Amino acid sequence: MSRPAVSLASRRPTRQIMVGKVAVGGGAPVSVQSMTVTKTADVEGTLAQIYALAGAGADIVRCTCNEAAAAEGLARIVPRSPVPIVADVHFHHEMALAALDAGVSCLRLNPGNLRKPAEIKNIAAEAKDRGVPIRIGVNAGSLHPDLYKKHGGATPEALVESAQMELAYFAEVGFDDVKVSVKASNVALMIEAYRLLADTVDYPLHLGVTEAGPPPGGLIKATAGIATLLAEGIGDTIRYSLTADPVEEARAGRQLLEALGLRERKGLDLIACPSCGRAEIDVIGVAKAAQAALEERNLPIQVAVMGCVVNGPGEAREADLGIAAGRHRGHLFIKGKIVRVVPEDEMVEALVAEADHIVAEGVEARLAAADAGAEAAAEDDRRALLEVQGEDVNSSEERIQLIRKKLEEE
Ligand code: SF4
Repeated sequence: MSRPAVSLASRRPTRQIMVGKVAVGGGAPVSVQSMTVTKTADVEGTLAQIYALAGAGADIVRCTCNEAAAAEGLARIVPRSPVPIVADVHFHHEMALAALDAGVSCLRLNPGNLRKPAEIKNIAAEAKDRGVPIRIGVNAGSLHPDLYKKHGGATPEALVESAQMELAYFAEVGFDDVKVSVKASNVALMIEAYRLLADTVDYPLHLGVTEAGPPPGGLIKATAGIATLLAEGIGDTIRYSLTADPVEEARAGRQLLEALGLRERKGLDLIACPSCGRAEIDVIGVAKAAQAALEERNLPIQVAVMGCVVNGPGEAREADLGIAAGRHRGHLFIKGKIVRVVPEDEMVEALVAEADHIVAEGVEARLAAADAGAEAAAEDDRRALLEVQGEDVNSSEERIQLIRKKLEEE
């Protein structure tokens, strides 16, 4: 509902490709990808997961195509999928051809383990005939051994050279419907490799920190790599590679893009103060209760939970809706303006009800429906609390007197 007032630096210009109906690069919104963990041959199980991923924010989903039964599964999955399907292919060039026959919207090839030039060119020629793009998915962990040797390891230069070798094979058959990734599990290596790649080619880039691991460490590593590059204008589609339910990957990807202002908010953005000595409630408990109640509704608004009425409404004045605690009452505010004062034990309930009203009626209508005496009642609470707490949350005067007394005694 609300968008950040500032936006990131302009995006790096790239060519645009189409992965099914989803445009990637060339000014298109940055897209979110994830990958199923089911056996692709399990059509119903895989489709259920694809729907869950799409619901959590994935624009594109990748499935492995590692055996004939997987390719046959793809033939059944593709027409029933709500999002374009990418076939992930390693080692077996015939699996890439089978995935094309299955009707996938994109292939992902790993140049580190699909190495025969004739086979690579054959796949590219077949993809070209069908108008299907390919992601060149370089991975530091499975780099071509010759490049590993030449560069003395998986360096940014080695990763980029691997992509360039693949591009050269593609060029031989006139194929350039391409996006590229140079993933690594080492975040610094990944960032440097993508920066070099962005300086070298104008194809759209697929960002990811590979094998990032389970949350929260995996989330931090993936965000460090992906967000750094996005903030520099680099990156056209992203994937979090987490050791977790892939729904978490899709959700994280979507949340990151929304947090950076690169995609419209689709779901809830709950902000909460970190709490401090002024807090009048258990901020963590109330924030968790509000999150649980609001997430079920998945409303596209920003909601704030603030621990005190002294600073809360002001600190969160940009939020669509918020609640701040004071003197056993909750101050409900919209865009920083107090609209209602409710008993403390009804805070979460009131917050959720108002969120529903805002989504149904809009911010202006809800501001107009504010309780007449709310601002005055809130101001009374605020002043009373200031008198009690003053500016001396730490009982500083008492402490200073104590320090002085002890020093004098020495
Ligand atoms: S809103 Fe109040 S309780 Fe929360 S951090 Fe700010 S001053 Fe502290």
